[in-house]
Amino acid sequence: MAKVYNWQIGREMSYPYEQAAPKRQWAFVFNINRCIACQTCTFACKATWTFSKGQEYMWWNNVETKPYGGYPQFWDIKLLTLLDESHRKANRQMVWNSAKRQGEQRPYGTYEGMTIFEAAEQNGLQQEVALGYEPSDAEWSAPNIYEDTATGLTSAKGATTIASGSLPEHKAWFFYLQRVCNHCSYPACLAACPRKAIYKRPEDGIVLIDQERCRGYRKCVMACPYKKSLYRPTTRTSEKCVACYPRIEGKDPLYPGQPLETRCMSVCPGRIRMQGLVKKNADGSWAEDRQNPLYFLVKVAKVALPLYPQFGLEPNGYYIPPRWAPRPYLRQMFGPGVEEAIAAYTAPSRELLAVLQLFRTTQQIIFRYEIIEGPKVFETTIQGKKWQMYNDTVVGYGQDGREVTRVAVEEGLQVRPNKHANSI
Ligand code: SF4
Ligand code: SF4
Ligand code: SF4
Repeated sequence: MAKVYNWQIGREMSYPYEQAAPKRQWAFVFNINRCIACQTCTFACKATWTFSKGQEYMWWNNVETKPYGGYPQFWDIKLLTLLDESHRKANRQMVWNSAKRQGEQRPYGTYEGMTIFEAAEQNGLQQEVALGYEPSDAEWSAPNIYEDTATGLTSAKGATTIASGSLPEHKAWFFYLQRVCNHCSYPACLAACPRKAIYKRPEDGIVLIDQERCRGYRKCVMACPYKKSLYRPTTRTSEKCVACYPRIEGKDPLYPGQPLETRCMSVCPGRIRMQGLVKKNADGSWAEDRQNPLYFLVKVAKVALPLYPQFGLEPNGYYIPPRWAPRPYLRQMFGPGVEEAIAAYTAPSRELLAVLQLFRTTQQIIFRYEIIEGPKVFETTIQGKKWQMYNDTVVGYGQDGREVTRVAVEEGLQVRPNKHANSI
């Protein structure tokens, strides 16, 4: 295998293909703290892309309740178990060395365990490039099982708690995990395809399956650890999220020529989603773009983290972790940056608070933002430290440099004139 650099795990890793970074990368940030599991995103995708015969159980976007829910069922537990078994066999551990943190190259230190590509190599899986499994039909059949089911386990065997929640961590807890294809920098689906039917677009990093080339071998279904490549029996091909590429290309008649956020992103009433295009260097690292909101959230504020970075795919979806869930569980899911991200979210800096207002204020992709300073409007103490809030205004600009949104930190108050009382 070739060697590529994965900044999320802070080291080089084995991958079947040489580094070939796109100019820009499709990426998103989901704020788990705000999601209400309304599934509007799920149905926006279904109504756009997967409403046909053979796609009945195909949910390119899904929202599952953690820790018990999953689509397909137990996808992450099963993969983590396989990875754990590989480490035991090799007498190695899935650990992070946080002492090795260093700038942009290693913002969270180094993952010293094996990725799913390295585990397959170690296991001598000659036919497989990545550790994986193919879910059964039963596992795909109940996409929202265990919705709103909390874990209330205490240390006593079989005992549960109904203790009410209080921060920093609730004793009984659950949270919603929103999932779409991560259009990974090192996609396992692409690496595993024997027909070379899967490709990553150089202009925006979107990963697509060529339906003409696909023969339905389902190697991608097996290899994708996030289980976001799915088999369609009526066409005998695999399909996956297409990142709503016509909208990214500016083909939507709503704003001709302007890149729009995807369907699942732009309908979200919880305002948890922001999507964008980040600039990449030839070596795969993110080019500095300080005023891009995604760059700011991931690289500067470090409030948003990748999903299971230890799998080694460098996924391009980032999550603001739920601040009430137990830290060891979150560290397993989002890596060692969890404490820092939650601290940043709990007492947001003046700039972060302003950027968080940009979520879902426009369907157009925001490429740059500026902040106009406003007066101090509130003061309190958070975790023993003084915290101040300013009514700043944040302005977002589109690809062509035109203003596409403008929003203040304090929501405006609209008073309906008397003559309109009770009218609709
Ligand atoms: S539309 Fe938004 S709030 Fe509703 S489930 Fe999807 S991500 Fe959550
Ligand atoms: S999430 Fe899965 S399907 Fe999507 S690009 Fe990554 S490996 Fe491929
Ligand atoms: S980006 Fe588009 S295709 Fe992908 S899950 Fe969202 S709505 Fe579906």
